[in-house]
Amino acid sequence: PPHLRVTGIHKRFGGLHALRGVDFEVARGEVMALVGDNGAGKSTLMKVLAGAYLADEGEFWLDGEQVLVGGPTDAADLGIQIVYQDLALCENLDVAANLSLGAEPVKPGWGFLPRFLRPIDEMEMEVKAQKAIDRLEVRTLKSVRALVGGLSGGQRQAIAIARAVGAESSVVMLDEPTAALGVAQTRQVLNVVRRLRDTNHAVVYISHNMRDIFEVADRICILRHGANVGTWRTAETTPDEIVVAMTRGLDEGQTH
Ligand code: ADP
Ligand code: MG
Ligand code: MG
Repeated sequence: PPHLRVTGIHKRFGGLHALRGVDFEVARGEVMALVGDNGAGKSTLMKVLAGAYLADEGEFWLDGEQVLVGGPTDAADLGIQIVYQDLALCENLDVAANLSLGAEPVKPGWGFLPRFLRPIDEMEMEVKAQKAIDRLEVRTLKSVRALVGGLSGGQRQAIAIARAVGAESSVVMLDEPTAALGVAQTRQVLNVVRRLRDTNHAVVYISHNMRDIFEVADRICILRHGANVGTWRTAETTPDEIVVAMTRGLDEGQTH
C-alpha cells in the first residue's frame, strides 16, 4: 500500500486553477518522479503535500489512515519533508551549523538560561551533523566544519537533503535538485536519492532530465495542466513514451 496518498486535490490561485482534482501516491522504498511541462503544477503539488500551501479541496492519507494537514508543522510532524529549489542554506556558516539551524544542542547544565543565551554544544552539534552526513553517504564532504559557501552545488544539495531528513522523516520531496548541476555533481545527488530509497523513505523527485529519471525513479507520474494523466513504471516504458504523454495536446495551444 502507498505510504502517502492524496485524493481529489484542488488548488486555485485567484482565477488560476493550478491543481484540478489530483490523485497522487508514493510508497516507502520508492522513488516517484513527478514530471510535466513548466506550469503543469509540479511544485504546487509538492508544496501542498508539504503543507506549505493549503489545498482548496482534497484528502490526505498516511498508511491508509486519513490525516489532516493544516500547515507545514503538521506535515513535518507526519514525517513529510520538502527540499526547495532555493536551498536556503547559510553561506557563512559551516555544514554542522546549517544542519542544526534553530535546534542547536545546548551544553549540559545551561538549560536555565533563555534559549538565545545558552551556549551551543559544538561537539554534540558536530557529532549529529556527521551522523546526518553518514546516513546519506556523502563521501565527498571532508569535514562538517567546512563553510557552506565553499561547497559545490552537489554538496549543497546533499546538505539541504540531510537537513530535511531527520530520524522521523518518511517522505522526502526534491524539487529539481539537479537543475543547476554538472554531470559529476548530478551523480552525487542521484546517489543520495538512491540512498533515501534504500533507507525506506518515500521519495518524490521533480526533474526535467529523462536520463536521470530513468536512472533513479521506480515510477513516473505525469502532470498536465494541473491534472494527473497517469503513472508509469520506468521498467515498463521509455523516455520517448513519457515525453509524448507529457506533451500530448500541449502543442494545440491549450493554456490555463
Ligand atoms: P511547475 O512546478 O510544474 O512548473 P507550478 O506548480 O510552479 O508549476 O505552477 C503551476 C501554476 O500555478 C502556474 O501557472 C503558476 O504560475 C501558478 N502558481 C504557482 N504558484 C503560484 C502562486 N504562489 N501564486 C499564483 N500563481 C501560482
Ligand atoms: Mg516551473
Ligand atoms: Mg516547479
